[in-house]
Amino acid sequence: MKKRILLADPSKELLRQILHGPEHQLYQFETATSGHECLEKIEKFAPDLIVIDLLLPEIHGIEILRRLKNSPQKKKIGLILTSVQAMIQNYHAALEAGADYFLQKPFEIDHLYAILARYFEGALTPAPFPGKGSLVEKPEEHFIPHLHPHTSHIKFWGTRGSNPVSGQEYIRYGGNTPCLEVRHKNDLVIIDAGTGIRALGDVDAIRKAKAIHLIIGHTHWDHIIGFPFFAPLYNPDCHVTIWSPIGFEKPTKELFTEMLGYAYFPVRLDDIRAKLTFKDIQEGVPFSIGEIQVNSHYAYHPGATLCFKLKVAGKTFGYATDNEILMGYYGNPAEITKDHPLFSSCASLVKFFKECDFLVHEAQYFPDEYEEKVGWGHSSIGNATALIKHAGIKEWIITHHDPAHTDEDLQHKLQVHHEMLEVCKHTCRIRMAFDGLSIPL
Ligand SMILES: [Zn+2]
Ligand SMILES: [Zn+2]
Repeated sequence: MKKRILLADPSKELLRQILHGPEHQLYQFETATSGHECLEKIEKFAPDLIVIDLLLPEIHGIEILRRLKNSPQKKKIGLILTSVQAMIQNYHAALEAGADYFLQKPFEIDHLYAILARYFEGALTPAPFPGKGSLVEKPEEHFIPHLHPHTSHIKFWGTRGSNPVSGQEYIRYGGNTPCLEVRHKNDLVIIDAGTGIRALGDVDAIRKAKAIHLIIGHTHWDHIIGFPFFAPLYNPDCHVTIWSPIGFEKPTKELFTEMLGYAYFPVRLDDIRAKLTFKDIQEGVPFSIGEIQVNSHYAYHPGATLCFKLKVAGKTFGYATDNEILMGYYGNPAEITKDHPLFSSCASLVKFFKECDFLVHEAQYFPDEYEEKVGWGHSSIGNATALIKHAGIKEWIITHHDPAHTDEDLQHKLQVHHEMLEVCKHTCRIRMAFDGLSIPL
């Protein structure tokens, strides 16, 4: 007489494969896909052996095993427990509850048939614990995702405005003043030479670079103070081109010459070993550095300050660290419609940023701080939000954090940003930039 085997497993596909196994004609099979069905079939079919999955729906495999072992009529029925959860606790629980064998999934159908044969020969003894993590063949190495090959990215080396800060309350966002690395294949553009540029200059590939383009949007301290500490300046094989706007007090070369006077720093501009070239940026006239395209627009900030729009690797993004939008307005940003008399003051910049995939833009002040700081050249959260909305920006990276704002303040500020966007009924992904933030392009 054929031995009767009940197969209880939630996978119909696995059941089908077992039913078509190499020696299926030797046995009489019945199947169940849930705990209740399994109990029903035990009554009706009276199997000699049950092959049951540990995680059978409705009733756990161990519970069915216990019920069998507690029943005087059924405790002789053999039981092979299968599971993908080859954990030592499951292994011991199964054998202690009276299972004849613990079979780790996935298994070869032939292997199961060999076990069935051994069981009916009375020669089946439990195998030792299969060991952890052996569900699949051992991979060559641990998988680590490399989603972005980093041939094109931007990286923030400084995100603090006005003045560098340090201390335990600034650990999250960092304290270096602005510096942004823009890299596309072999092209490298650096915007701003704040204190963040020192660490960038120490990166091996930058230290040994043959050509570096540095763009300065304006020459306030926070954007140039790191310049003399930039290591490539002392590499005679490097050519550093400095791009800056014209039209404010003195040419940049003259300003840098003064900044590097002995009274301020021990190395003069003339003593710098890299080849230096100063180039003027004409506002609104695009230029290219390799495959990186740069355009500029005046910012609302003292002097001939520029903000930028870059096209790199098929992406367009804006960068405005110092920009006082809607100067003197403290009202609800939702009321700044296109017909509002103040809108014309920012219409041209709104248009400039319009096609950006993302915008790096400051919003240095909380609403209540702004009243005290009108004319300082920085935006309130609300006024910056109005610009973001009208330019249709879908991703906003906030930078140039106020030196008075601690990590806790900036976390709170992020919340206010969310609320302000809601007031303006504008959906936009926002995040706070921090020193070290890298964004693939
Ligand atoms: Zn600044
Ligand atoms: Zn400034």
